[in-house]
Amino acid sequence: MPSKSNKVLFRRDPSYARCPSCASVNTLHRSRSRNWREAVIKSISIFKVYRCNKCGWRGYLSTLVITWLSIRNLLLYIVLAMGAGLIVTQVLKRFIK
Ligand SMILES: [Zn+2]
Repeated sequence: MPSKSNKVLFRRDPSYARCPSCASVNTLHRSRSRNWREAVIKSISIFKVYRCNKCGWRGYLSTLVITWLSIRNLLLYIVLAMGAGLIVTQVLKRFIK
């Protein structure tokens, strides 16, 4: 199991992020979806509707963050998994012969 530092995706709360419009901190709040389209996007994606109390900005913000370090770790996992798979196949071949 990957340790905490090797997490590929980081869950974050955009409520503490800066407003993309006025760059204010702690002004973002979850907004209720106004129509069915927003409700659908909200339920199937990692994006949630947020609203800024200060400037009135309203838009989608991701609740998950992918970091470059996590992408590197992910690639490393894939290489290791493939390597392990290759070794297992080689071992199995010897026994199955
Ligand atoms: Zn704002």
